[in-house]
Amino acid sequence: MTQTLRIMKFGGTSVGDGECIQRAADIVVAAASDGPLVVVVSAMSGVTNRLIAAAHESAKGDAGVADALKATLGQQHQTAADLLVKDPEKRAALVTELEKIIDEAAGLCRGTALLRELTPRALDSISSSGERLSARLLAQALQESGVNGVAVEATELIVTDDVAGRAEPLMNETRERATARLSQLLEERAVPVVTGFIGATLEGKLTTLGRGGSDYSATILGAALDASEVIIWTDVDGVLTADPRLVPDARTLPEISYNEAAELAYFGAKVLHPKTLRPVSEAGIPVWIRNSFSPEKAGTQITSTGHPTARGVKAITAISDVSLITVGGRGIVGLPGIAGKTFTAVADAKANVLLISQSSSENDICFVINSVDSTRTISELRRAFAFHLAHKEVEHITINSEIAIVAAVGDRMRGMTGIAGRIFSVLGQRNINIIAIAQGSSEFNVSFVVEAGSMREAVRSLHREFGLHERAERIE
Ligand code: ASP
Ligand code: MG
Repeated sequence: MTQTLRIMKFGGTSVGDGECIQRAADIVVAAASDGPLVVVVSAMSGVTNRLIAAAHESAKGDAGVADALKATLGQQHQTAADLLVKDPEKRAALVTELEKIIDEAAGLCRGTALLRELTPRALDSISSSGERLSARLLAQALQESGVNGVAVEATELIVTDDVAGRAEPLMNETRERATARLSQLLEERAVPVVTGFIGATLEGKLTTLGRGGSDYSATILGAALDASEVIIWTDVDGVLTADPRLVPDARTLPEISYNEAAELAYFGAKVLHPKTLRPVSEAGIPVWIRNSFSPEKAGTQITSTGHPTARGVKAITAISDVSLITVGGRGIVGLPGIAGKTFTAVADAKANVLLISQSSSENDICFVINSVDSTRTISELRRAFAFHLAHKEVEHITINSEIAIVAAVGDRMRGMTGIAGRIFSVLGQRNINIIAIAQGSSEFNVSFVVEAGSMREAVRSLHREFGLHERAERIE
């Protein structure tokens, strides 16, 4: 497709109400004069949560939920339509269309209440209604400004496997379908406004890509349509050198690499859905994170090379709602299979492991998981090690929830000597106790565990040490 095609995605807060949608429309209108665009939208913020809650409530047999849902969604979208569309006839036509979608969702909730069962298919259909509504609002807002916005259902573009709730795209089929469906529109200089989060199987059954999946929709379409860039409009200025609540002089990074973005997404900088970069990194399509509330700011660009800097470290991240679990005892020294058993139990508990560390004395294995998963994980571990506990080979399975993981992230840390030394001497000078340390062999990140109370100080002192409050010159 055309060389200069750009994808613009607007997140839930960027289309949070009528005014926000107008702001998004203004951004699209300004960009539309520079070349072809495909827009992807999330549901208005809070809508997907409300839909999913209504679906689950309905499954308990409460038929009243459907009516309540209809009333709230109707009100919210009608208010936005009132603000966005001046002409009474056009507004009425839009509202009728919105009501139809809301009625469908309410109908599915009613059916769910009758059956007292929520099927994964019904949940997909109900939860995807928000994007179908917001796409129509934004398309009509564009029409108001003289740009031919056309709402397009992603079920006609993104082909996925058949896994309800977290479908994966089939890229070849998607490429074919998306090109066939959008070429004509783009030639006519229309701006397709595509529902994020949604796809369909080859047979046309609706699927969803997982919570927060609209970012993923945007990059799937970017790759399928050979876009020149994907711009993700959200409510933050971009990716920062640290969480500004912890470090007031944190800066927006002008450019980071796909690897750095993935590390940062993993370690708490929740700007992007974790799968977002997969479709575009191979093709080297740049992704921008920009603030729709401050469109004059440049944002952060994510590319293959990512503006390498001499200091190596790009950002300091921290996560605190995590727990450190230790499986230990003198009896496990040299005993094979303990690590295997440990992590099988963790997998059975469906807990995601964020960091692992074992000292060479083998006295214990420790790892960090999200605190929400800790009760389940501990009981799986006790079950798995019941025999070893009884025979005192495993002496303890302990949990410490008063901890945080802090990580220094940067591509160019790889092969650079002295970074770990600097990190740990700074922490030493500040009397910050380090509970565990890990570095992946990718060397893109050095992470360590500290007491929760030391997290802020650890992040601040490292941010200072590596001069992250100052602009860094690019090196080759
Ligand atoms: N609306 C969906 C959600 O809230 C998808 C998205 O916003 O990216 O999960
Ligand atoms: Mg969202």
